[in-house]
Amino acid sequence: VTSKVKKPDWLRVKLPIGENYKHVRGLVDQHKLHTICESGNCPNMGECWGDGTATFMILGNICTRSCGFCAVATGKPLPVDYDEPQRVAEAIYLMKVKHAVITSVDRDELKDGGASIWHSTIRAVKALNPETTLETLIPDFKGKKEDIQTVIDAAPEVISHNIETVERLTRQVRIQAKYWRSMEVIRILKDGGARTKSGIMLGLGETREEVLQTLRNLKDNGCDVVTIGQYLQPTPKHLPVQRFVHPDEFAFYKDAGYEMGLDYVESGPLVRSSYHSDRHVHPGLGR
Ligand code: SF4
Ligand code: SF4
Repeated sequence: VTSKVKKPDWLRVKLPIGENYKHVRGLVDQHKLHTICESGNCPNMGECWGDGTATFMILGNICTRSCGFCAVATGKPLPVDYDEPQRVAEAIYLMKVKHAVITSVDRDELKDGGASIWHSTIRAVKALNPETTLETLIPDFKGKKEDIQTVIDAAPEVISHNIETVERLTRQVRIQAKYWRSMEVIRILKDGGARTKSGIMLGLGETREEVLQTLRNLKDNGCDVVTIGQYLQPTPKHLPVQRFVHPDEFAFYKDAGYEMGLDYVESGPLVRSSYHSDRHVHPGLGR
């Protein structure tokens, strides 16, 4: 099913060209790394890669889950690559970025869900890049506290876990995930002392009230930073876009989030979980 509605002008983006873009492209290829920028067909590649930054995806590029919005391939993942943490650390070193974002596929077949590789990656990045701040966008680890704690123990500056959509649509959008389990992940992260972050995509059929409810639930579970962006259908096989949300409505959610007491709300059509992520590290910079 292709999307029912035509892309509005506010979703036009810069083309990926320029020297920095080529530099990032080269590093990603040389280090045999995967990025969610490419896997997710992100519309911001021109801007982010042009600024010399990218979001690395660790634990391979085959996911054990099959979320309806996500372009990452589903299947049986390859064996764990124990050199990957070091290669990610080296690529970040060569990119000379002050802030980096790492995410992963879900590895539900692994006993620890990949938590030990997460830990090694964070530590390797920190060892080689002591000045670089890090956001880690983690899976739900099936809600297993000890695995989530393994990531907290590696001490990245921000730990995010995306709720992605409202409660009613979760089954359709993230088939193997659960809304309240993800809220619980945020709670565990907060209780563990992390700076917490989550993301919501709009345009999948949610109502205004449901979005507000999700923001409230995130706040109540200890979420500090929330990103809200427009869902874009990566291929015709994925969930169709129900609606292109107007920039004014994004602004409305931003105000509502601040009124609820969230520390930082990034809300706009092109916002992605990792967009402007460097601004989400230090508390109190919102608004
Ligand atoms: Fe990559 Fe995130 Fe930038 Fe998109 S917004 S290009 S996923 S770093
Ligand atoms: Fe994509 Fe993450 Fe869902 Fe896997 S778990 S299909 S990588 S969104």
